[in-house]
Amino acid sequence: MTADPRRGLPSVDRVLAQLDGLPHDLLVASARAAIDAARERAAQGLATDPDAIVADARDRVAIRQAQLLRPIVNATGVLLHTNLGRAPIGDNALAAAVAVGRGYSNLEYQVEAGTRGSRHEHAGSLLAQAVGAEAGVVVNNNAAAVLLCLGALARDREVVVSRGELVEIGGGFRVPEIMSESGSRIVEVGTTNRTRRTDYERALSSETALVLKVHASNYRMVGFTETTPVAELAALGPPVMVDAGSGLLDETTPWLPGRPAWLADEPGVRQALTAGAALVTFSGDKLLGGPQAGVIVGQAELVATVARHPLARAMRADKMTLAALQTVALAYLDGDATRIPLWHMATTPIEVLQARAEAIVTSVPGVEVIDTEAVAGGGALPGLTIPSVGVSIETGAAGLASLRRAGIVARTEDDRIVCDLRTVAPNDDARLAAALAAL
Ligand SMILES: *Cc1c(COP(=O)(O)O)cnc(C)c1O
Repeated sequence: MTADPRRGLPSVDRVLAQLDGLPHDLLVASARAAIDAARERAAQGLATDPDAIVADARDRVAIRQAQLLRPIVNATGVLLHTNLGRAPIGDNALAAAVAVGRGYSNLEYQVEAGTRGSRHEHAGSLLAQAVGAEAGVVVNNNAAAVLLCLGALARDREVVVSRGELVEIGGGFRVPEIMSESGSRIVEVGTTNRTRRTDYERALSSETALVLKVHASNYRMVGFTETTPVAELAALGPPVMVDAGSGLLDETTPWLPGRPAWLADEPGVRQALTAGAALVTFSGDKLLGGPQAGVIVGQAELVATVARHPLARAMRADKMTLAALQTVALAYLDGDATRIPLWHMATTPIEVLQARAEAIVTSVPGVEVIDTEAVAGGGALPGLTIPSVGVSIETGAAGLASLRRAGIVARTEDDRIVCDLRTVAPNDDARLAAALAAL
């Protein structure tokens, strides 16, 4: 008769004594999980070595550590990768968030008068100024902005929208669902591929609160299509609300030599307002290049109604977001793209990426420089690519997984791993090279 191998299992405390790097309770969970796994092995008559149990517990600690929210190197070439946190935030915007977050601030305080102020007086009004709107407010994200505007302006009334714009943006944002959550009634007009001005006209009634135009940012219809431009909708009478989504502030992006081809016909917020939109909503962390936020700009009276609504209180942006977003707004007012990492990355000349790729290839054997195509992502500009350069190495799925463990997310093409440098910060090149060398 052999001894029960389960007898030989170490205690939680004994395993725990050899773990560190996380708070006690999380280490206990890892120690317990490793001992439980050993108990199962023992029950099947398999060997259980105390050292192996400790090693297993350490692996579990490492996996748990890697699950903590932390920086990742984005080598996918997708500039606005929603799963990787969309737009990176610039150092100066972060510094503003740190300065305001660290202590007290005039978040809702008028310094001159010494009286209560409004958090909408900061980033919201600066962004309004950057697009030529009368007023602006900031909430948590664009989904909140759309919900709030509809709830504040169209509850129990009708919102006229084209069937072609009842889209799903991703991450569970479905226009019809948001509309019904807001308490407004959807009046669908036109067809999926064609909606004319007369379709809208016929749907108008004394119950119409808004005409809504949604930028179908994440897909593109080609062929027999027709949409009605904002300028024609604005002539119908009721206020036109545009969900512009991506947050391209101005189609003439003042700091670029010209409009880059990959921006195609992406509509600008300023142009929607000029065409007669009464309200425009957009995200802070897409093409605007700032923190997660939803921005509402437009006519002062409508913006004030929206800001006063009880839902606005539930969706208000926090002081660090507002500080970072204010810095972004100031950069736009200055026409200085170099302060916005997204635009810096998007417009980095191909020769600069080429030189960085060559430097990596020289230091890591087996790696090649390749031409790649980066994309905007984040549900903006489907099908349009930005010429880019990457490094590539021949290795399978295991290589990709080991890069992920090193905090680098890349993509595969055939049997090769491709790391696109357009989305990698130059000071992460060394980290990328080291991880590739370790393959
Ligand atoms: C991205 C997007 C949204 C959702 O914005 P979030 O900031 O992610 O909440 C809504 N509408 C459009 C058109 C979008 O592109």
